[in-house]
Amino acid sequence: MLIRKLKLSGFKSFVEPAELRIEQGLTGVVGPNGCGKSNLLEAIRWVMGENSPKSLRSGGMDDVIFAGTAQRPPRDFAEAVLHATDAEGEELVVTRRIERGAGSAYRVNGRDVRAKDVALVFADAATGAHSPALVSQGRIAAVIAAKPAERRMMLEEAAGIAGLHVRRRDAENKLRQTETNLARLTDLMAGLD
Ligand code: ATP
Repeated sequence: MLIRKLKLSGFKSFVEPAELRIEQGLTGVVGPNGCGKSNLLEAIRWVMGENSPKSLRSGGMDDVIFAGTAQRPPRDFAEAVLHATDAEGEELVVTRRIERGAGSAYRVNGRDVRAKDVALVFADAATGAHSPALVSQGRIAAVIAAKPAERRMMLEEAAGIAGLHVRRRDAENKLRQTETNLARLTDLMAGLD
């Protein structure tokens, strides 16, 4: 999957709508300390479904919304739009929007979807909010210190099979539900005899 463009509005320090185009080859982001370089990487992880405020250097999820400065009032929402091309060359546009006190909503190619659907889109492409390809500060030390089970998760994400676990859980839940329904049906039929 190739990330082509990231559009931000109200996300952390990016209060004004901002667009970052990622061309083929190497892209560098340079700027003085505190100008928002790490916020860009966090925006990519956030739109991919990151739900741990800690890994976004935040206390709560609403903290990703522009908090205001002495000159500017805070915002009520934050939005990130990620444009990518998948392995088959199809365009993919993923939007995440958070409203203060109301949580997040996701869209994929203009259609409302669940957080889980977004996670599957990226997991199938062997990427996502926890992809080892997204290396934030302190991450190298965390990988070295990771327990075997955590390392296995990283390898599964890199191999693009992480989405299979989610699907297996879903299938198991459906199976359990069907077994319960079947048991109830058998009881009802026994009552009719
Ligand atoms: P360094 O080079 O020091 O690592 P950086 O360029 O990576 O810095 P970031 O850490 O991405 O900078 O950005 C930090 C800035 O983002 C700080 O000025 C901080 O005040 C601002 N910031 C973070 N969250 C918010 C928010 N919710 N509202 C407004 N500003 C925010």
